[in-house]
Amino acid sequence: MDFMDCDVLVMGGGVAGVAAAVAAARTHAKTMLVESKTFVGGNGTTGLCLHNFTTKNGKQVVYGLAQEVVDRLVAMGGAVGHVPFKGFVNTVTPVDGELFRIACTQLLDEAGVIVLYGTNVVGTQVDNGFITGVQVAVKNSLRTIRAKMYVDASGDADVAVSAGARYRKGNEKNGKMQPISMLLRAYGTDNIKIVDTLSSVEPAMASKSGVPHKIPVYFNGTFGKWNNIIREQGIFPNDDHKVFFNTVWPNQLNVNTSAVMGIDGTDPLALSRATVQLTQQVYKIAEFLKQYVPGFENAYFIPAVFAGVRETRSIQGIYEISDDDVKSGKKFSDTIGEVCFPVDIHNPDTGQAEFHPIGADGAFDIPFRSLIPSNLENVVMAGRCISASSFAYGATRNMAPCLVTGESAGVAAAMSSSKGICIPELDVKELQATLRERRVYLGE
Ligand SMILES: Cc1cc2nc3c(=O)[nH]c(=O)nc-3n(C[C@H](O)[C@H](O)[C@H](O)COP(=O)(O)OP(=O)(O)OC[C@H]3O[C@@H](n4cnc5c(N)ncnc54)[C@H](O)[C@@H]3O)c2cc1C
Repeated sequence: MDFMDCDVLVMGGGVAGVAAAVAAARTHAKTMLVESKTFVGGNGTTGLCLHNFTTKNGKQVVYGLAQEVVDRLVAMGGAVGHVPFKGFVNTVTPVDGELFRIACTQLLDEAGVIVLYGTNVVGTQVDNGFITGVQVAVKNSLRTIRAKMYVDASGDADVAVSAGARYRKGNEKNGKMQPISMLLRAYGTDNIKIVDTLSSVEPAMASKSGVPHKIPVYFNGTFGKWNNIIREQGIFPNDDHKVFFNTVWPNQLNVNTSAVMGIDGTDPLALSRATVQLTQQVYKIAEFLKQYVPGFENAYFIPAVFAGVRETRSIQGIYEISDDDVKSGKKFSDTIGEVCFPVDIHNPDTGQAEFHPIGADGAFDIPFRSLIPSNLENVVMAGRCISASSFAYGATRNMAPCLVTGESAGVAAAMSSSKGICIPELDVKELQATLRERRVYLGE
């Protein structure tokens, strides 16, 4: 065995990959995680809310490792729990991005996962539907890592697609993909003043130890008051541009408003171009906020270190989660967890967000079959590249579902590895029993 060989190889260390690797290692598999960036935690490190743990009726339906991450962050001062919100969701779960990264790093290390940073998966070796090795580019060389089971948490389904999985890229009608954005962090803000000036909703308010009063942790609004300036300065082409704010601090805010349209996040040149445009766009936004929006006058701004990709590929699984499954709050006998965040689609032409509620009790199940590529035997998907229609993808791509699919994929891969069976042959009841032992919520 090469020192890099393992039982379970997880590719991609975003929120889904972290959950998958921790879960696999805790299921006694020798687990390796490869991540092309120099840190783990993906989009969670930009300080967004982990959407979402409770349904529109206020019932919590996401537990397991996802809840463990929140509990750990609360203890570290990097989260304030599930905070009531009177908007498009019943609660929000904001986190501090840097503490999220630290918590992910700790969890992986404690579980015994071998993490290989700065490593890109560039190809696969496949034999009759079985991946026999994954080619990775490490510093100065190409290496092959061999595992019994593979978890594709690359967001873009790089591994499954390279191995021959069928997939869709972008919207099923026109191939368009949701915009790419870069988060902007502002330090030294007066958040109460910003809420008063800009929020179009009642903010989610949370208590934080060491802070004598409740603080606004999530709110949103538009730049409608400043349409002329926004247009004159060429920041956005549209009026009333939406802006979302998250924080767990009284004097810091993560600003989510930038957007570049028409970018294929799997195209390295296009993504690099978008990174240049977004870095310039968030600089302009920062200058605008400082000059015109009360509460930002003394702020210091730092752009996120990467451009966030919302949508690329979705593999064709044994089952694809459909529009109707979302609209009817469908339950499945092979469920591995629930999704309760509404469908959140950022319009590929305007960049503006639209929300569509989940039907019935406000949650739909994720069937295990939607994690399994229809034509591969030893790879399981986790995170935003599972099998879902474009509409359903608007819900499954969010971070709580990504943590849920990550945990299940990791457990499934470890179980299949120790039993020496293919992923599609795994006894779902046994998988569900193990998930329940780990406090994963699978319905009543
Ligand atoms: C701007 C923006 C705002 C968002 N807002 C929210 C929000 O408020 N709340 C919410 O819950 N969700 C939000 N989302 C959605 C959510 O953050 C993502 O869909 C989710 O984090 C995806 O997680 P993932 O682990 O599946 O994929 P990713 O985060 O895309 O992670 C994939 C990881 O794999 C690595 N990787 C990719 N290819 C390779 C390769 N070939 N080799 C090695 N490594 C590779 C990447 O570097 C990355 O770290 C937002 C997304 C964006 C872009």
